[in-house]
Amino acid sequence: MDLKVGVIGTGFIGREHIKRINNKLSGAQVTAVNDINVEAAKSIAEKFNSKFYNSAVDLINSDEVEAIIVASWDPTHAEFVLESIKAGKYVFCEKPLATSAEETLMIIDEEIKFGKKLVQVGFMRRYDRGYREIKNEIENKEIGAPLIIHSIHRNKVPEPQFTTEMSIKNSVIHEIDLYRWLLGEDYKIAQVVIPKTSKNAEGELLDPQIVLLETESGVRIDVESFVNCQYGYDVRCEVVGEEGTLTLADPHQTIKRKKGKKSHPIFPDWSDRFSEAYDIELQEWINDVKKDEMNGPSSWDGYMASYTADLCSQARIKNEIIEIPTQKCPDFYCK
Ligand code: NAP
Repeated sequence: MDLKVGVIGTGFIGREHIKRINNKLSGAQVTAVNDINVEAAKSIAEKFNSKFYNSAVDLINSDEVEAIIVASWDPTHAEFVLESIKAGKYVFCEKPLATSAEETLMIIDEEIKFGKKLVQVGFMRRYDRGYREIKNEIENKEIGAPLIIHSIHRNKVPEPQFTTEMSIKNSVIHEIDLYRWLLGEDYKIAQVVIPKTSKNAEGELLDPQIVLLETESGVRIDVESFVNCQYGYDVRCEVVGEEGTLTLADPHQTIKRKKGKKSHPIFPDWSDRFSEAYDIELQEWINDVKKDEMNGPSSWDGYMASYTADLCSQARIKNEIIEIPTQKCPDFYCK
């Protein structure tokens, strides 16, 4: 029997997830959708043979919905995840889990109170083949101990009303989660450096930014976040170890040699670059829900990412190097 999934938020990524689940992946069907953009959601419902719900809360509590995907605007995530936990249903929430560490703690409290892990956070880079290879190489001690990570996260242009704070809390949050997962340790120091601002950054937006992190064991990480780079979507990562380096490879692309030039296309956005990672992420989530277990990025991972992002944000505002106090992971998440 297919798992009956309800999707809240039928914007860019919500539509991608619905298409994936109904046309590509196995074991689930999107049976219900909701969005405050009623007309768009109704047309998606019709196209994918699912039911439109006028209220997200009604969708969550419907008998026709067994598991929920939250793909609406960031400030709505916590409310819909909390409601899903109260309904005792598995919920996949797009990153960030909430807009602050405080809100993620409310989710953690509710999940622990319910007594079962129900939440997975959409940190899809953990499912990218390239990053998984890097993790294996690190764990197999192929380059000795990692010492430094250099990384780049560039978007062609940001969404309208994108803010300086979102650069960290919505964008760099991917790297914050990823390097914690890759290295298996938390962070102890954060700093944000603001270089000269691009003329393409609108309004008050400071872009690019450089986030500097140091892990508990002293690995130094630099993340360039540049949301107005103009030329495409570009994500890079190099891990420098004691005995070698590991560089993230882009997915397969044909290289053209013509008229004295060698070229290949650049991904236009995240949906193409991480297409395979989204497939694997959602297929594993469907499989886990059907087995009645959760193995993906947890609420605790969502909390640690938001907690670190909040402190990075403070470091930027205060223009200071900030210490990140250690957080003890509850046994419920880290046995
Ligand atoms: P989007 O295109 O703006 O879609 C968000 C949708 O949610 C819009 O249709 C919006 O309606 C709707 N919405 C807002 N408030 C709502 C509410 N109270 N109830 C129901 N629907 C509501 O944005 P997106 O790019 O798809 O991003 C959606 C989420 O996914 C964000 O949290 C983002 O951080 C995350 N995301 C994750 C990744 C990843 O790599 N994992 C990539 C992209 C996005 P209106 O347009 O009318 O406001």
